[in-house]
Amino acid sequence: MTSKALNQFLDESIANLKEHGLYNEIDVVQGANGPIITINGQEKINLSSNNYLGLATDNRLMVAAKQAVDTYGVGAGAVRTINGTLDLHIQLEEKLAQFKGTEAAISYQSGFNCNMAAISAVMDKNDAILSDSLNHASIIDGCRLSKAKIIQFEHSDMKDLRQKARKAVQSGAYKKVMVISDGVFSMDGDIANLPGIVEIAKEFDLITYVDDAHGSGVTGNGAGTVKHFGLEKQIDFQMGTLSKAIGVVGGYVAGKENLINWLKVRSRPFLFSTALSPADTIASAKALEILMDSKELNVQLWENGNYLKNGLMKLGFNIGHSETPITPCIIGDEKKAQMFSKRLNEEGVYAKAIVFPTVPRGTGRVRNMPTSAHTKEMLDEAISVYEQVGKELGII
Ligand SMILES: *Cc1c(COP(=O)(O)O)cnc(C)c1O
Repeated sequence: MTSKALNQFLDESIANLKEHGLYNEIDVVQGANGPIITINGQEKINLSSNNYLGLATDNRLMVAAKQAVDTYGVGAGAVRTINGTLDLHIQLEEKLAQFKGTEAAISYQSGFNCNMAAISAVMDKNDAILSDSLNHASIIDGCRLSKAKIIQFEHSDMKDLRQKARKAVQSGAYKKVMVISDGVFSMDGDIANLPGIVEIAKEFDLITYVDDAHGSGVTGNGAGTVKHFGLEKQIDFQMGTLSKAIGVVGGYVAGKENLINWLKVRSRPFLFSTALSPADTIASAKALEILMDSKELNVQLWENGNYLKNGLMKLGFNIGHSETPITPCIIGDEKKAQMFSKRLNEEGVYAKAIVFPTVPRGTGRVRNMPTSAHTKEMLDEAISVYEQVGKELGII
């Protein structure tokens, strides 16, 4: 017999979410996740993935992954410290360090668990972390796990950050103080003020941690937001994911050798969770090779992003103030944003509504993630569907 208390909790909670329109029914993608996807047997233009460079279905990565399976099998066999460290992992980490312009790098099984791992390996209850109010959930959870005092600062507000940094440091209550921020904020597409953060960090000797999940492969000609600002030597933790622009799965931290050595002996998901599979590892390394060899995909991504932005702007949509290819289309009212997304979907454009609490109340939006793999024809078709549905719902 299963727990009555559990069943009651689950039934009530799910009913409550459904009542408030917050219960997410998950769509199943039939086949590959590319610029065109099939859902319920219908093809749609996909503007919802993080596969910025189309690498998730890039033939060069697929061939490399197949070869890895033939040579190494499908699993790493153990956690890294026991005997799960394959030569492939070392090769990937060398490439990551090269890609990020650091002494060394360490890979994890996901970006999420990388943040859980890395923050708590360095920060503890005697420390404080200054965290941007719009930071990703995995940063928030990583900070919580560390038991450090979490001090939120207003989104990208350097005045607020400086004031809170000064207060934290001058209080003498903390051994170490870290400042942590997304490199690119995925809901609005804005870029963190890293020069401002670095300046304040220097002033107060803060540890700097940048999660560039949405920046790597995108900003800085593909090398990320830290590179975009030329701050490779001044950020302690360059964290990133292999799951978005890189197209595979996994996470990493790039930084100085002493930091990476410490993470290898103290970060718990590295010590207690099985290593990335051979196919994931080699496919990720291949992606880095491609990005370091050629800017072609990156250039195409920005061209497509700008094309979509211009098209939507000309139609009169409010696309916010994105500085990256991420293109929000801000509707305002939550229900209307959801209706808008639903109608787009019915007309063959798959772009998700994002509403409170993920974004502030009254800024409900449909978020578009163009990729380098979209053709002009696909983007034109998407823009024309936007026009039709926008007029239908009285948005433009
Ligand atoms: C997606 C994301 C992550 C998690 O990365 P995964 O590799 O998908 O686990 C972490 N941080 C930020 C900012 C993200 O956007």
